Amino acid sequence: MQIIDGKDIAKQVRKDLKPRIKALAEKGIVPGLATVLVGDDPASATYVGSKAKACQRLKMYSEVIRKDASISQAELVDIVESLNQNDKIHGILVQSPVPSHIDELTVTLTIDPEKDVDGFHPYNVGMMLLGRGALLPCTPHGIIKLLEYSNIDPTGKEVVVVGRSNIVGKPVASLLVQKAKVANATVTIAHSRSQNLTEVTKRADILIAAIGKPEFVTADMVKDDVIVIDVGVNRVDDDSEKGYKLVGDVAFETVSKKASFITPVPGGVGPMTIAMLMVNTVTAAEKIHGLA
Ligand code: NDP
Repeated sequence: MQIIDGKDIAKQVRKDLKPRIKALAEKGIVPGLATVLVGDDPASATYVGSKAKACQRLKMYSEVIRKDASISQAELVDIVESLNQNDKIHGILVQSPVPSHIDELTVTLTIDPEKDVDGFHPYNVGMMLLGRGALLPCTPHGIIKLLEYSNIDPTGKEVVVVGRSNIVGKPVASLLVQKAKVANATVTIAHSRSQNLTEVTKRADILIAAIGKPEFVTADMVKDDVIVIDVGVNRVDDDSEKGYKLVGDVAFETVSKKASFITPVPGGVGPMTIAMLMVNTVTAAEKIHGLA
C-alpha cells in the first residue's frame, strides 16, 4: 500500500508554478488573490488564512476582506464588483459558507469569470464540461493532479465517486470522464439515494469519497487493491488539547490494508486544494495580461 502524500505533491505543484510567477514578475505583474470572508466561522477563517499564507510564500499579492455576518447581499455584490475592476486582483474568492440571507449563486454570477479562481461560475463550469476549462475547480483539479503525480492512469478504469456536490462530486466525475490526459475513466456517481451502495463501491478501481461523514467508507465496501481518494474533512471530538481531530470519509485504518494507494486525512486532498488555487490565480493573471 502506498500513501499518496498530498503535502509533497502540493509542494511539487508549487515548485512547478514558480517559473510562471517569475516570468510574470519580469513583466512587472504580481498575481493577486482577494478573499472575502463573511462572518466568524473558525474553519473558514483558518482556510482563508492558509490561502493568504500560500500567496505570501509564492511572493504573490493577497488581500483578505473581512465582513460581518450581517452584511447585505447588495453590499457583498458591490465588493465583488469593485474587485472585478481592481487591476491588482486576478483572482476573487468568496469563502463558503456565506450566511443564509446571502444567495451564493448571485454572488458567484457577479464574479468576472476571468477572475473566478474557484471555477464555480457557470461559464467556467460549462467550459470544464466541454473539456476546454482554464479555471478548473480547485479540489477536483487537485485530485487529478494527485493521480497524475502518483503515475495513476485512470484510462479505462472504473471510478466511483460517492457524493454529487457542485464543488467536488459532479466536477471531479466530469473531469475524469473527459477524453483527456489523466481521465478516460468509466465513471459512476453515487449519492444518498443510491441503492446497494456497497455493490457500487466494490466495483471501483478508484474510489473518490466526498460525503462529509466521518469514516463512512469501510473495508467491506471496497475491493482489494482499490485506489482511494478521501476528500472528507470531518471534526471528531477527542481528548487532545484541541478537543477534536480531523478524519476523512474513509475508515483509514482498515481500508488502507486493502488499498493499493490511499490519501490520508489530513495531508491528502486538502493541501492540493490550496495549491490549485495558486495555480488558478497565476493562470488568471497570465490570461488577463494576454500571456496564455
Ligand atoms: P456536500 O454535503 O455538498 O455533499 C455530500 C454528498 O454526499 C451529497 O451528494 C450526498 O448525497 C452524499 N451523501 C451523504 N450521505 C450519503 C450516504 N449515506 N450515502 C451516499 N452518499 C451520501 O459535501 P461536499 O461535496 O461539499 O464535501 C464533501 C466532504 O469533502 C466534506 O467532508 C467536506 O468538508 C470535504 N471537502 C474537502 C475539501 C478539501 O479541500 N479537502 C474541499 C471541499 C470539501 P445527496 O446529494 O443525495 O444529499
